[in-house]
Amino acid sequence: MSSFIRIQNLSVFYPIYGGLLGRRVGDVKAVNDVSFTIEKGEVLGLVGESGCGKSTLGKAFLRLIEPSKGEIYFDGQEVTKMNADSLRKLRKRMQMIFQDPFSSLNPRMKVGSILAEPFIIHKLCPRSEIEQRVRELLKIVGLRPESYDKYPHEFSGGQRQRIGIARALAVKPDFIVADEPVSALDVSIQSQILNLLKTLQKDFKLTYLFVSHDLNVIRYLCDRVVVMYLGRVMEVLTREQLQNPNHKMHPYTEALISAAPKKHPDHVKKQIALAGDIPSPARPPSGCVFHTRCPEAIDICKTEIPVLENSVACHLRGPRLKMTGGS
Ligand code: SF4
Repeated sequence: MSSFIRIQNLSVFYPIYGGLLGRRVGDVKAVNDVSFTIEKGEVLGLVGESGCGKSTLGKAFLRLIEPSKGEIYFDGQEVTKMNADSLRKLRKRMQMIFQDPFSSLNPRMKVGSILAEPFIIHKLCPRSEIEQRVRELLKIVGLRPESYDKYPHEFSGGQRQRIGIARALAVKPDFIVADEPVSALDVSIQSQILNLLKTLQKDFKLTYLFVSHDLNVIRYLCDRVVVMYLGRVMEVLTREQLQNPNHKMHPYTEALISAAPKKHPDHVKKQIALAGDIPSPARPPSGCVFHTRCPEAIDICKTEIPVLENSVACHLRGPRLKMTGGS
């Protein structure tokens, strides 16, 4: 049976122009040859440092950013080949929650009008029923009924994120891309929003792609996690593997876990300090893109790109070296 969502060899490149003639001299490789699947009802986490391409990839799912290469399939339909009309219809089923809901909420509109928009645009119900439907939505996301007549600036950050979630839910989507939805919020509010997202996922049988730089958030919410570095997938882990102290992870995942705030008992024995900054995606390193910072890099890492096999892309962790007796 085919997966609910599948991306195949997806790349998003931004051209760099230069020289006197303004010719294309290179590309920023934001997402580079990425493939994975998401099953119906699954919460898939996408994690990595800032600049690894995870937010670009999240937006490419909905074609808010156009992919340069590769395919995206959603419930059997190829999203990457859709015309504008088909895409508009599909967006009823695919929604996005943004990191900064305030910038996506019109400050001159009351919340009641903001949340009425999707009902009007997608003709979801008769106009006479819209107010009642909006008030129901406010209740579902934990906002008071009087919120209907307020403006976005009258709400706290957490409440504004609830409005953003309500707007995404209005069209009754199947799939939501949540792009760092709690990273701009106070820690005390983060857990409330995460709990709300978890409850909604169960109640409405939603599928999530949850983009975050925070492994603690990912651990709390996600069934599986895709670890990205410099536009490429390093590893795909189940929640059980992520929590198993005996599971040998990709060196980059180990470093991310080592650097995460210790809200939970940490199963990495040693602290792993990554040397230097993440390289520019305009000039990614040859071979394994992580080799310039990897504490375990060997010669082959500088020249040969490790293939994602058995859910890990690493010359030391992959199946080929294990088969030949390598450690
Ligand atoms: Fe490190 Fe080499 Fe594995 Fe890349 S392939 S993560 S450089 S050991």
